[in-house]
Amino acid sequence: MADSPYHLVVIGGGPGGYVAAIRAAQLGFRTALVEKNANLGGTCLNVGCIPSKALLAASEHYHFAQQELASYGVQVQGVTLDLATMMARKNKVVNQLAKGVEFLLKKNKIDLIRGEAFFTAPGKISVRTADGSESPVETDRILIASGSTPVALPFLPFDGQAVVSSDQGISFDQVPESLIVIGGGAIGLELGSVWNRLGSKVTVVEFLPKIAAFCDEEISTHLQRSLEKQGITFLTETKVVSGSVEGGRIRLSVDRGETTTELEAEKVLVAVGRRPNTASLGIEKSGLQLTDKGRIAVDHHWKTSVSSVYAIGDVVDGPMLAHKAEDEGVAVVERMVGKPGHVNYAVCPSVVYTAPEAASCGLTEEQARSGGIEYKKGFYRFFSHGRALASGMNEGFVKILADAKTDRVIGCHIVSSVASELIATCVLLMEFGGSSEDLARTIHAHPTMSEALKEAALAVDGRSIHS
Ligand code: FAD
Ligand code: NAD
Repeated sequence: MADSPYHLVVIGGGPGGYVAAIRAAQLGFRTALVEKNANLGGTCLNVGCIPSKALLAASEHYHFAQQELASYGVQVQGVTLDLATMMARKNKVVNQLAKGVEFLLKKNKIDLIRGEAFFTAPGKISVRTADGSESPVETDRILIASGSTPVALPFLPFDGQAVVSSDQGISFDQVPESLIVIGGGAIGLELGSVWNRLGSKVTVVEFLPKIAAFCDEEISTHLQRSLEKQGITFLTETKVVSGSVEGGRIRLSVDRGETTTELEAEKVLVAVGRRPNTASLGIEKSGLQLTDKGRIAVDHHWKTSVSSVYAIGDVVDGPMLAHKAEDEGVAVVERMVGKPGHVNYAVCPSVVYTAPEAASCGLTEEQARSGGIEYKKGFYRFFSHGRALASGMNEGFVKILADAKTDRVIGCHIVSSVASELIATCVLLMEFGGSSEDLARTIHAHPTMSEALKEAALAVDGRSIHS
């Protein structure tokens, strides 16, 4: 072991893997990272978080210029869409950030091994390069951060044209006249919003009774109404049972209760979840145990069933989120050197980047109720909030849930155009075990959107000033 050229080899250069590699190098490990794709940054940077946010921002500007700018007294004529430029801008952002990750690896003296890593025996890996050659890589420890891939429906395989995953749903070269989105989760809502704003007739089909099922009920309800007003059609409690491509168009049969209906569109975006990337790892030779959902089984220090092999990010249990992968990446490496690396999963924010955005942290009201937790609720709407009105951002609300006995904040749920930024205060408060009283007595700059957090905290005790 001591003679291995590397203390750690990381498989996968996504947010879990590259962050872990950097932390390992900071802690003095001789580190290598194996990545099979040309670009570093993984799903998040190449086909996930970043390109989707670039398109969300661009499409929001287009929609705003077309439909809302005039109400601010700014008249613009002849607003047209240049999709090619929008896509080129998105690609430029992605490539700039991917180069940035490569620079960070170099700066931290991490060896980048280009190729596909696979297990040859428990604790032993080789790398297959583009020319097909295979070479073993000696290392004391292996960290798997191989991420995840879109799931297809068994009767509707991806063809990259009419039946697509998010990988293609961020790169259409024309706005489809109509788009069916299967799945009302984060991907369906975000990419559905992009194409709706750019002119597609978007229909979201969701199996469950509500969209954004992981969110608090009031958030899901508000979000659905808001997106409906923007023109998206939702079919909830609806199951897609079959589908085919005929003459380049997609036809789906969907079951709604007792009735079966046919839907037709130019394209269908299947966004029904992602599966862990284990297949390419040669799992049968690895000795690794998988969970019943096919993820790599790890203990609470991200150790697998094989000593010296660890796993983090989308390939292990938990929410498939970039910040969760990153925090696990730091913590697992700190554990390897005996530091107290830790991830507080109870305080992991989640955001849907629609307009308005929906952001949550901690328990939903339904979870608190079903867990028998007595709680108080503080609710504040942006409706008549000064900064929100002045900025034209007065849609949405803040909801804070605090333990009825201790006043400790147990959940925070926000709908607002800046919910993704506002939630950070709640995350910090909850990380420190703060109370609604702490938030209510904290000075917030006026006029800011963040004052709504203070008002919601005051409302927990029935003393909101502005509602
Ligand atoms: P990944 O990012 O998937 O990276 C894994 C890497 O491993 C890849 O580069 C892959 O090529 C490489 N790899 C796999 N197998 C091998 C092998 N055998 N050898 C070598 N390399 C290998 N999350 C958020 O938190 N916020 C968001 O806004 C958000 N938006 C998203 C939008 C979309 C459209 C999608 C699809 C996802 C989004 N996510 C978002 C989820 C986020 O992208 C993932 O949770 C995150 O990328 C997981 O990080 P990871 O490092 O575990 O894996
Ligand atoms: P998801 O699990 O979030 O949502 C999938 C939805 O599809 C669920 O609501 C499910 O009920 C529905 N569904 C499943 N099968 C169906 C069927 N046959 N018919 C109709 N509906 C069906 O998955 P996703 O939206 O594909 O996202 C994948 C992962 O990527 C998620 O874990 C998510 O956390 C992550 N992601 C996060 C963000 C973000 O943080 N903003 C953005 C995009 C993706």
